[in-house]
Formats: sequence, C-alpha cells, structure tokens
Amino acid sequence: MMLKQKLKNLSHLLPMSVTFKHLFKPPITIQYPEQRDVMKPRYRGRQRLDVKKCISCGSCARACPNATIEMKVVGIEEKKVKDRIIKKEKKHPEIYLGRCMFCGLCVEACPTGALTWDNEVIELAEYSREELFYPWWKLAGYEREPEQGGETQ
Ligand code: SF4
Ligand code: SF4
Repeated sequence: MMLKQKLKNLSHLLPMSVTFKHLFKPPITIQYPEQRDVMKPRYRGRQRLDVKKCISCGSCARACPNATIEMKVVGIEEKKVKDRIIKKEKKHPEIYLGRCMFCGLCVEACPTGALTWDNEVIELAEYSREELFYPWWKLAGYEREPEQGGETQ
C-alpha cells in the first residue's frame, strides 16, 4: 500500500520529463502573422489563373463535382482559320470558394496549365459569403476587372 502511494506521488514526474526535454530545444512554432512559414509545393492554397494560357475550353468547370466554377465571357476573340476569320467567345473561370472542397480536379483537368494552385495563399477567411466569390480577374491577381477582357496588366 505504501509503495503504491509513493508511486502515485511520483506520477507527475513523467509528464514533467517531457516538458524538460523540450526546454532546451529550438521552438517549432513561429510568431504568426509577423513570421510566415514557407508552404510545401503541393499545398493547395487557392486556385490561380494565368489568363494568357487560358483557352476558354471550360474543362475546369466541367470537372468540378460541386459546380463551383462558372465560365464568364470576357470578350470576343478573332482567329484566322485558313482564309476565314472566326469569332469566338473568350471565357475565363470564376470560382465560388464557399463551395470548393479543394479536391484539385479543376487544376488536373486544365489542359494548358492555366489553372494552378497558389500555395502562398493561407488566409481565406472572409466576413461574408459574397466575399468568397472569386471573379476571374481576382484569380488572375488583378486588383480590378480590366476593361478589355484582360491581358492589360
Ligand atoms: S478544387 Fe474541386 S471543388 Fe474546388 S473548384 Fe476545383 S474541382 Fe471544384
Ligand atoms: S483555366 Fe484551363 S481548363 Fe479552365 S477554361 Fe482555361 S484553359 Fe480551360
């Protein structure tokens, strides 16, 4: 009975030993937001759009299982095919992040690499649902919508 009581009194030493073990090690936490960690290359922060590579195919929108992506018409493109000039709608994806589950299927489906993950984005919280809507120009990193469908910046 006495031994059991003594062991019970020493039971706090085991957790204390864990504390002491870490006392002289460098910290593994950082002073966020003043300090920021470098995210891993495969981290899915938020989709980023390269408008120069986007060919308006809509594969990203069709691949999305949550119907999160809509294609927005941003202008009319003219292409010369043989002797004819063909006019085609230029479209870019827009994403409502509130419905996104970050599965990555849209990025996988993009045939030109126009849609990629921006792994530097870590703060996605907003005060309203409306602010979770990302128009194409915001995905492309523009501050506002460019006037002519946007390769102006
Ligand atoms: S990551 Fe998945 S859910 Fe989000 S927009 Fe892309 S396909 Fe849709
Ligand atoms: S982002 Fe990629 S998949 Fe989506 S419309 Fe542009 S080229 Fe097609």
